[in-house]
Formats: sequence, structure tokens, C-alpha cells
Amino acid sequence: IGRKKPAEPASKKIPGVDHVVAIASGKGGVGKSTVAANLAIALTAMGKRVGLLDADVYGPSQPRMLGISGRPSSPDGKIILPLRNHGVTAMSIGFMVPEGEAVVWRGPMLMGALQQMLGQVQWGRLDVLLIDLPPGTGDVQLTLSQKAEVTGAIIVSTPQDIALLDARKALDMFRKTDVPVLGIIENMSGYICPNCGHEAHIFGHGGARAEAERLGIPFLGEIPLDLAIREAGDGGAPIVAARPSSPQSRAFIDAAERL
Ligand code: ADP
Repeated sequence: IGRKKPAEPASKKIPGVDHVVAIASGKGGVGKSTVAANLAIALTAMGKRVGLLDADVYGPSQPRMLGISGRPSSPDGKIILPLRNHGVTAMSIGFMVPEGEAVVWRGPMLMGALQQMLGQVQWGRLDVLLIDLPPGTGDVQLTLSQKAEVTGAIIVSTPQDIALLDARKALDMFRKTDVPVLGIIENMSGYICPNCGHEAHIFGHGGARAEAERLGIPFLGEIPLDLAIREAGDGGAPIVAARPSSPQSRAFIDAAERL
């Protein structure tokens, strides 16, 4: 009697957002941001309202991939209004730092920025918010699983064994933080010669599918290593936006449809 009720835990739900899906990889450079941007655009083409939060705080690439420059406004100094391109509502720490400038912040500052992006951005109504995570299994991943209600994670891996070893660590991290893994995507899966059409498996092939089968996780598909994918992404209009009916886009659209 007279004892205070224990405080309710703060809601981890992001207002207006139905599902939060993290895009993760064990190591950098495997095409996680490319996959995140193209999946986001593929999902908008399926009629979904999609947001993309670039939480790759040390190497934010979504401003360049989505072709967005400029700074989000904050009319009252509290809420942050995200930017938009290719039908995707986007927020990135890269909007705050001029391109080419390093984010030289200590961990607590970065975590503060991440929490701000999770808590203060006005996403509006979204069916899904994709979160482009930094590679590996560090602070950002932990903060995210503690501060937001995450529906699940998608792991991007190249076929090399070493990438898969790192990808296994990412899988293990999500298991430990109780985030369900929605599927694995194999990127840079095969290279089709634009001259002769021959397909070469430069980094090997099939490892991600085998790993997904072994773990009973959905395999979302294979994305080829393709010049057009790189040029489109690095040029600010990802292939699914630039050439939606190309075979290269098909691989991303199929993956989005399997989600
Ligand atoms: P990560 O987010 O894992 O660091 P990025 O998505 O930034 O990786 O990709 C690294 C580089 O590789 C970028 O220049 C990107 O355009 C390129 N790239 C990614 N996926 C492909 C692909 N399937 N084919 C060709 N280039 C790709």
C-alpha cells in the first residue's frame, strides 16, 4: 500500500512505423547499402510506404546512393523532418556532415545521434523503416535492439567464406539480441561479362544459400556483380529506380517480394 507502481518501460515503438527491418552485414563493402537502397525502392514500387534510416554512422552512403543532398530541417529544434527521393523517406547522419568529411565522434556522441534519429525524426506513416546498419556487431546494433522494436534483420553477404564467417557472427548477434533474421541475400554473386554473356563466380557461389538452408532461414536471392548496379547506385539513382525493368533490378525486386 502506498508503494509506487514500477515505471512502465518506455515504448520502443517508433511512432507511425509498422515495421523496423535492419539491414546488416558481417563486414564492410559487401553491398549492404546498395541492397538497402534498392530494396527500399522495390518496396515502394509494391505500394509500401518506406523509410530508410542510414545508421552506418562511420560511413554513411545513403545520401549519395539516394541522390539526396541538403540538410533536414528542424522547425522547433526538436523534431527532425526527413528528406525524400525516389519515393523513399530518408534520414542519414551524412545529411549533417559535408560529403567527404569524416565523422570523428566518440561512441557516446554517435549513440546520441542514433537515438536522436530514432526518436526525433518525423517519419509520418510508414509500413516499413529499413535501417542500414554499420558493418559488424558493435554499439549501433546493440543500441538499436535496445531502443527500437525491431521486426527483423536481413543479412547481406558476399559468397566468400570469410564474408560468410563474419556474416555468421552477425547472425549470432541477432540471435543473442532476440531479433529474428528474415533472410540472407548473397550479393556480388556472379559476374556476367557484358561482351560475351559468360557468367563467372569471382567470389565463389552458393555459400549464402547453403548457410540459410543449414540455419532454416529464408534465402532471399542472389544479386549479380554488375557494372550497371554500381554506376546507378554511386550515381544517386539505384538500379531499381533508374532501370526498373532490367534483369539486374529483377533480383532486388524478387528479394523484396520474398520478404
Ligand atoms: P557496404 O554498405 O556493404 O559497405 P556498398 O553498398 O557501399 O557496401 O557497396 C560498396 C561498393 O560496391 C559501392 O561502390 C557499390 O556501388 C558497389 N556494389 C555493391 N553491390 C554491387 C553489385 N551487386 N554490383 C556491382 N557493384 C556493387
